[in-house]
Amino acid sequence: MIIVLKPGATKEAADEILAQIEQRGLKPLYMPGVERIVLGALGDERKLSDLNFNAYPMVDEVKPILTSYKLVSRDFQSHDSLVKVGNVEIGGSTFIAMAGPCSVETEQQIELVAEAVAKAGGKILRGGAFKPRTSPYAFQGLGLKGLELLAKAGKNNGLPVITEVIDSHDVGLVAEYADALQIGARNMQNYQLLKAVGQAQRPVLLKRGPSATLEELLLAAEYILSEGNQQVMLCERGIRTYENAYRNTLDLNAVAYLKLKTHLPVIVDPSHGTGVHDLVAPLTLAAAAVGADGVIVEVHPEPKNALSDAQQQLRPEEFARLTQKLQQVLTAVGREF
Ligand code: PEP
Ligand code: MN
Repeated sequence: MIIVLKPGATKEAADEILAQIEQRGLKPLYMPGVERIVLGALGDERKLSDLNFNAYPMVDEVKPILTSYKLVSRDFQSHDSLVKVGNVEIGGSTFIAMAGPCSVETEQQIELVAEAVAKAGGKILRGGAFKPRTSPYAFQGLGLKGLELLAKAGKNNGLPVITEVIDSHDVGLVAEYADALQIGARNMQNYQLLKAVGQAQRPVLLKRGPSATLEELLLAAEYILSEGNQQVMLCERGIRTYENAYRNTLDLNAVAYLKLKTHLPVIVDPSHGTGVHDLVAPLTLAAAAVGADGVIVEVHPEPKNALSDAQQQLRPEEFARLTQKLQQVLTAVGREF
């Protein structure tokens, strides 16, 4: 840890801090410059976390050296984590496509999509049963009925299923039907929910909040791992920026950055990441090229009649064409599909 004192700070002010550092068993460093005094603390700076040096009147800036997250960090585990959803492994050399409708609507709808997803090479079926909607008047999902239809369609087509859980009290119920639990963007900082899925025996797809920094995303994942669940995938799903030509700005920098900083698999959601039908395919290909471990794509038999996210869902045949192109990109970057 580096502590920069304000101009005019006295040696006494520095000594008080240095004594605290020493008391906690770290090595204190005193570095007087021409204009400022800089202090250092060598050792495990987490032992200093409750000392609030930044609240000392003579302290200008405190710069931690270690990251604030630990279990999710590559410093803690250098090799890639593999996450298993049903019998599908994510985070290895194979790129995984998850696909399905935004919301489960009817038995016929989800069966049709499940069949198309499996046929096109998709490995995991998605579909929302509990929907977090911006408007309270919008379709809220079929709930339990949706879970039943999703699980059945998955079984009928040999696909494990992923669905969102929006309430910590529902984690047990959703886990009975789903092979993986999705934490939606709006709930990335719902810490009770994160703790609850941390205690569940199911892998978790954690979506980045629309205004969350990557450090906040990694700390949210840290909540889940610290409860004992290491089966976590991160999902870049677009963030809110000044650009309003599309619904969200898909931050592909985040994918490359996260792959450096964490051992957890990184998934891209080009559907919510753009919110624009015609942008989904190109951004899916970009996700593959930039090094994501997979994508999650919304597919609906009749997007124009969809009860949610009609504007961004692909028709089954469009998804099939996309997976063909995806194979070409993946071959070019040395990945399998
Ligand atoms: C979804 O996957 O349908 C969804 C609501 O996504 P997000 O949480 O990223 O908005
Ligand atoms: Mn959606």
